Amino acid sequence: METLDSLRNPPPGRGIFCNRTLNLRSVRAIGYDMDYTLVDYRVAAFEQMVYAQARERLASEGWPVEDMAFDPRMVARGLVIDTELGNLVKANRFGFVKRAMHGTRMLEHTEQRDAYAQTLVDLSDPRWVFLNTLFSLSEGCLFAQAVDLLDRGALPHPFEYASLYRHVRARVDAQHIEGHLKAEIAAAPERYVVQDPEAALALLDQKAAGKKLLLITNSEWSFSAKMMAHAYDRHLPEGMTWRQLFDVVIVAARKPAFFTEHGPFFEVVDETGLLRPLAGPLRAGGLYLGGCAAQVERDLGISGDEILYVGDHMFGDVHVSKRSLRWRTALVLRELDAEAAALEAFRGTELRLMALMREKEALENQLSQARLALQRLHAGYGPAPSLDAAGLEARVQGLRGQLVALDIEIAPLAKAGTELVNARWGLLTRAGNDKSHLTRQIERYADIYTSRVSNFLHATPFAYFRSPRGSLPHDPGDHRPA
Ligand code: IMP
Ligand code: MG
Repeated sequence: METLDSLRNPPPGRGIFCNRTLNLRSVRAIGYDMDYTLVDYRVAAFEQMVYAQARERLASEGWPVEDMAFDPRMVARGLVIDTELGNLVKANRFGFVKRAMHGTRMLEHTEQRDAYAQTLVDLSDPRWVFLNTLFSLSEGCLFAQAVDLLDRGALPHPFEYASLYRHVRARVDAQHIEGHLKAEIAAAPERYVVQDPEAALALLDQKAAGKKLLLITNSEWSFSAKMMAHAYDRHLPEGMTWRQLFDVVIVAARKPAFFTEHGPFFEVVDETGLLRPLAGPLRAGGLYLGGCAAQVERDLGISGDEILYVGDHMFGDVHVSKRSLRWRTALVLRELDAEAAALEAFRGTELRLMALMREKEALENQLSQARLALQRLHAGYGPAPSLDAAGLEARVQGLRGQLVALDIEIAPLAKAGTELVNARWGLLTRAGNDKSHLTRQIERYADIYTSRVSNFLHATPFAYFRSPRGSLPHDPGDHRPA
């Protein structure tokens, strides 16, 4: 039995983090995405399936794919494919490339600098493809391996990197659309779906608190029905099914167009998915296909900032609903759990690293002062120094020696900090010392973000999320040179 205290103090990584203040009490409707939001999949198993089926297709086209295997750690959400150079890159919040991989090989620092010193990642340019969701992992891995094949001259047809990307993309896309993948998953959902009993309770809490709940998914009806029943029905009160949680269910919603266009709604009239065009307004308890967000707002009588939409797709769920409709937005970032745990485990080292860096800054400042005193002495201007030239030279040498020794201590700790969770790419949310490109997008488009829907249970439907004041480089702190 959970105590009130444990509800109040969720474990690290299970919090709801706030970019822009959001009062859940003034939210009248909460819309949920399904895949990787309400329904959490075992990423390695799901993506392995997509990968294996896409690889089969490539094999049938004569590609030598026998030695290729899915590696879920090769890529990560938030990385960017450079379709011009055949690379995967990680960029910081300004778009500067901080790490890069050509094919499956990480670039050396100098190679990376040569490739990207003059180039910023700009997602409005089709050269760059952002890995928006966990569904992107199979595609990223397959593309990286395909680049290796192309570079080795092992492919049956010539390709540019950009056309190679489009080819791989089309094969991955086909797996999601053609039904075999979904049939496999629906036949053995226990192998793919992570059960989270607390998610059902969180939704029951929200519904009982008077929120209208909406399900808006791009998945088809039959798949959605199987996944939702599998993930929710067993955790609901006797006799209740997932359908009763939602005021409106919308499948095959075609997000992001759902948020920007005015597509018609169809009513799903029976369990087989039979459709008829919707004549009147959306009804409570209704089950629909297609449609658009504008009609949801109109028929429910709810305006943009009274709707919170919760989804995992950085662009299709969060960016577009915020940009087009000013809906309040929540991003589900499953990887935050591991990220928070890694940071927690690294805390001791981090403190040590910070102390060493403070020491380094102080020594660097002393070194600069000593060099300046020497410069003035040699040029014959400025106040008289407290040491003569020989004394100053000795001081400069001494400080340089101390700095070299300090760097030897700092280097492995700093390296470990950049390899947390994933040795190739490090933390999703950071890039070097700075925020990652993904973090910048989260800041811009997600009012709140969290690792999973059930974290709303800890927060309650009455929570008031307040954004932190935010630190600035010139805030008072201990960053001043000693
Ligand atoms: P949602 O997250 O509930 O909106 O559903 C996402 C749907 O998009 C799932 O049915 C996925 O199988 C599907 N999907 C994910 N990636 C792709 C793709 O590359 N092409 C087509 N469908 C995709
Ligand atoms: Mg989703």
